[in-house]
Amino acid sequence: IPETDRRWSWVEVDLSAIRHNVGVARSLIKPSTRLLAVVKSDAYGHGAVRVAKTALQSGANYLAVATVDEGIKLREGMVGAPIVLLSEPPATAAPLLLAYKIMPSIYTPEFAIAYAEKADEYGIRAPFHLAVNTGMNRIGVRYDNVVDFMRKVSFHRALDLVGTFTHFATADCEGTLDFGIQVKRFTEAISALREVGIDPGIVHCANSAATVRYPQVHFDMVRWGVSLYGLHTCQETRSMINLKPAMSVHARITDTRTLPMSEGVSYGLNYRSPGSVKICTVPVGYADGLNRGLSGRTDFIVDGTRVRQVGNICMDQCMFEVDLRTYGTRRRLDPQIGDEVVIVGRQGDSVVTLDDMANKLGTIHYELACAFGMRLPKVYV
Ligand code: PLP
Repeated sequence: IPETDRRWSWVEVDLSAIRHNVGVARSLIKPSTRLLAVVKSDAYGHGAVRVAKTALQSGANYLAVATVDEGIKLREGMVGAPIVLLSEPPATAAPLLLAYKIMPSIYTPEFAIAYAEKADEYGIRAPFHLAVNTGMNRIGVRYDNVVDFMRKVSFHRALDLVGTFTHFATADCEGTLDFGIQVKRFTEAISALREVGIDPGIVHCANSAATVRYPQVHFDMVRWGVSLYGLHTCQETRSMINLKPAMSVHARITDTRTLPMSEGVSYGLNYRSPGSVKICTVPVGYADGLNRGLSGRTDFIVDGTRVRQVGNICMDQCMFEVDLRTYGTRRRLDPQIGDEVVIVGRQGDSVVTLDDMANKLGTIHYELACAFGMRLPKVYV
């Protein structure tokens, strides 16, 4: 029995949108530039194995994950492309990295040496990407210390520097000087390595925003993350490229009731019916990614019409209102058990986006996509 026959709620992932968005990235970069698909956090909630395979078939040639287990999941799903882990795991994970061919990002001598020693033990190479801190101050060897760092660890012959990268803190922001400072520091670090005869390998730094806005920093590879999923990083890119959102969230009505005026709904009974309303229940709650902070603040779509979510969002269910006074006179909207409801996405002329929800919550759509991907079954179309 398919997962969607067990629960009346699901995430729909449009793989043709993933293909389209890979094509957009490809159109922005030179044919010789590598395209890395960032598929961490289960491909931002979209399902890592399916997304990785689709992206690789349509023009991506590298993958990035955030945890060792995410990398193992890809390998077990028969994904063969190079995988880079975007941070250093504990040194005890070195055997797994080597066995599953997951290249770590390296920035401490302790990890570098432990990883290289393990590779020596197996009689194999220890490929890695060097993370450079150019100003985000999250991970990485300081930009003016990369030569010293490499000298310190490169006595270990197993170590194989495959790539050198940094990450931008402000590629999606307007009018900041910080982006330029990070670029300058990164190019200085790359030149310093080359000057002493160390080949930095694949040079990469551009995330989605930088890929679109700053062609001068594409270097040898770009890391296409959120825009792979059809999401923009800032207002400016909306007029520059045409992305297609891949994720939509759906449910079916599991129960309905008609309430007279002033009846409460859900925990706390905070919502009170303003008149004669039909209350419909859908099996999607905050444990499915529908953040409780959206209670009473987001719309769903039924039969192409926007309806208001009402009452506190529960862990696994929530309710919406069909105001029989309004809808009844305009057009007969009378949803029944089993009818489809769109929670994120388009139906008819109506649309609710992850961006709309993120703005209401004061967060970013990245977080909501990851959250919707956690428990809901996925349907690929
Ligand atoms: N590179 C690194 C190191 C990251 O941590 C991320 C995501 O956070 C990305 C690339 C992709 O960024 P985006 O999703 O904004 O394209």
